[in-house]
Amino acid sequence: MTIKERLRAIQQNLPETCQLIVVSKYRTREEILEVYNCGQRIFAENRVQNLVERKNELPDDIQWHLIGQLQTNKVKYIAPFVSMIHSLDSLKLALEIQKQAEKHQRVIPCLIQLHVAQEDTKSGLSPDELDDFLSAPSWADMDRVKICGVMSMATFTADTNQVRNEFRQTQEVFKRLKSTYFNNNPDFRHISMGMSNDYSIAVEEGSTMIRIGSLVFTG
Ligand SMILES: *Cc1c(COP(=O)(O)O)cnc(C)c1O
Repeated sequence: MTIKERLRAIQQNLPETCQLIVVSKYRTREEILEVYNCGQRIFAENRVQNLVERKNELPDDIQWHLIGQLQTNKVKYIAPFVSMIHSLDSLKLALEIQKQAEKHQRVIPCLIQLHVAQEDTKSGLSPDELDDFLSAPSWADMDRVKICGVMSMATFTADTNQVRNEFRQTQEVFKRLKSTYFNNNPDFRHISMGMSNDYSIAVEEGSTMIRIGSLVFTG
């Protein structure tokens, strides 16, 4: 299959409520352009340096998302252009995003990264860290950090029941946060979950953004 055929195969099974984010890490500029030429406009990178390089060498109408762990001292490099940060996981980071967004007169859409997987290596806030994070008084002044939902990564395992449970937990946390902290605001609407190996389960469990790399580029 070609890249075009693989893209189409993924898109055909997606409900209208779910967007495809193509993860372009490790790929060449030519490979990314091939996907771009099929009409895809949302791409994601997991490292700041790569996101900046790609933004500079690829067409201007691409929306760039950051999906990897973000260090506070690197926010300044992406603040001028990033379309969404999927990895908000601390108040310190939120305050820095606020500061840099203000410099550029922007509002930056962000997702709170949740830790639902069993592996210790996966970052994000655990369900009980969320309340401290979201009830911090400093949110009153953070008018440029727009929290649009949550992101999670499931455990890397062949046990599809476990993966499903973790996605279901993500959906439950999403609903709880939406009513507890966001007054059911419709702008709080995204659940970014699902990668090449588990996106079908994620879609069944209510994903609104799947992040797919290898399945698009190598099959
Ligand atoms: C690499 C990556 C993806 C895409 O993974 P694939 O298995 O290549 O689809 C999605 N989300 C995050 C956070 C990643 O780092």
